[in-house]
Amino acid sequence: MGIKAIDGKGVNRAAVICDICMRREVVTCDYHRSKSQEWTPNEGQIRRKITAQGWSEVKGAHHCPACEAKRKAVNSAKREAKVAETKTASVPAIRRPTPEQEVDIIVALSSAYDRKAKRYTGQETDATVAEAVGGGCMPGWVAEIRAAKFGPAGNEEAEAIRSEIKRIGDETGKALAALTARLDALYRAEDKRVRSQGGPGALAGATGAQPGRISRLEPSRHGIHARAGYEQAAQIE
Ligand SMILES: [Zn+2]
Repeated sequence: MGIKAIDGKGVNRAAVICDICMRREVVTCDYHRSKSQEWTPNEGQIRRKITAQGWSEVKGAHHCPACEAKRKAVNSAKREAKVAETKTASVPAIRRPTPEQEVDIIVALSSAYDRKAKRYTGQETDATVAEAVGGGCMPGWVAEIRAAKFGPAGNEEAEAIRSEIKRIGDETGKALAALTARLDALYRAEDKRVRSQGGPGALAGATGAQPGRISRLEPSRHGIHARAGYEQAAQIE
């Protein structure tokens, strides 16, 4: 028992000793006379007090809060390990290709994969090779062997699509550049025409408009200024 009477005058006290780390906790308690006429501490009262402080009694042994926390942590870790073990055991073993299937996959890959180009030929993929091998062959098995012994995925068709995307991108870029050049040329022609007619300043004077109004209309893009004059010139004509 980890409960010890403490002799002496004053408040009645007893010590509770942790059976694991020997930590000593002193609690005040009542004493009563035992059958042998000895003054003994009231164990029931002591138990209630130390239980409230986090102590516990396991199979007759007193555990201080720290040792009890450790014991619980170890137990729950054990429980978790057991659960994990059960789970692992219940998961069916991942199906692996037989050595014969591996050979079949390599043979199929040899004809479907272009080692030089580092891609499948035509429209071949891991899935089409798996299907060709048959017998429950998984595309994942093909992917594994292909990555290890042949090269990356992708095929001729994917390559063709990629080059088509690039071609259209290049063409679109060129077409946009040509259109921008045409627009610039158009603005330049307008500028020239307005200048030959005296420019927007002269036009503003002619129509009585505020020159400042036109300059406020002048945004960043070159030619808009000229356009404002051009439109006014058109109104005058
Ligand atoms: Zn302890």
